[in-house]
Amino acid sequence: MNEIRHSVDKNAKVEYEVCVVCKKKTDVRIDEPITRRYTYIEGAGQLCPSCYKKLIIDAKTR
Ligand SMILES: [Zn+2]
Repeated sequence: MNEIRHSVDKNAKVEYEVCVVCKKKTDVRIDEPITRRYTYIEGAGQLCPSCYKKLIIDAKTR
């Protein structure tokens, strides 16, 4: 008998970053490198796409 056990970690929870502005959960994983996050602002933190857009548009109209 050859018993194969796959060790699937059912308790492995993927943590996601929270938007620093609206505190909503983003789709960016906590283990995602900062350089690969396109809605991350240095010095501010992780933003959700809508807040990021708002901030960028806001910064441009100022
Ligand atoms: Zn937000």
